[in-house]
Amino acid sequence: GVGMAMPGPFDIESMSCVGPTTMEQWRGVDVLARLKAAVPFPVFVEVDSAAAAHGERLYGIGDTLKDFYYLYLGVGLGGSAIHDGQVIRGAWGNAGEIGHIPLVPDGALCPCGNRGCLERYLSLEAYERRRAEIGEAAWFHEITPIFRNAIVTIENLFDPSAIVLGGLAPRSLRQRLLDLTADLPGSLALRADRELPRVVLSKVDSDAVIRGAASLAVSQVFTPRPAAGETAGDTDDPFLRRSNKESIA
Ligand SMILES: [Zn+2]
Repeated sequence: GVGMAMPGPFDIESMSCVGPTTMEQWRGVDVLARLKAAVPFPVFVEVDSAAAAHGERLYGIGDTLKDFYYLYLGVGLGGSAIHDGQVIRGAWGNAGEIGHIPLVPDGALCPCGNRGCLERYLSLEAYERRRAEIGEAAWFHEITPIFRNAIVTIENLFDPSAIVLGGLAPRSLRQRLLDLTADLPGSLALRADRELPRVVLSKVDSDAVIRGAASLAVSQVFTPRPAAGETAGDTDDPFLRRSNKESIA
């Protein structure tokens, strides 16, 4: 099979990318259909943050944790929650994509149409843009309360064992963000029996997306379950149709 990861969030109807900060020219392209037409294998497309979370689950901190949230710092900002060892996907594969939570009232205009989206402040795109405008130190100062509120929001939503800082951002940048979490405000995650820090760095780093996408194809072929844009009953792939019937039986 073929596993492919793309920046999210995915368009509801066509599996194309909505996120114009990342891939403007790919708006409206039905990637899944075109990939299916090009290769004679089962094809799976996943949001990059979910693929990376899957990679971290298999090759990184997932060794020891079954419930964690993977915060994906790429050109944009995304994330996925892992619950009981599985990526929580949601109805259209976008669950956990926090980049477009409007966290700053009347904040910066976002290509999605809203104002104050988290991704406008906390992403590689925002880092490069604001570093040129105000300098790196001022950017860290600017995003500190926003980042810390985002961490508390994720903890209250998903109750993870820890939040993993991953994605395409260099490890040095993620380490400096991690340093901002030394004295976080309270949340559901503030527990006396806590063994891990509330926020940790990814163990797999940028390879997590590729390794997660590849393993997605393997796991979906051998243990099929409906993926984004694909339902178990109406697939036109004979292998998948057979496998789904067998797995139901
Ligand atoms: Zn937005």
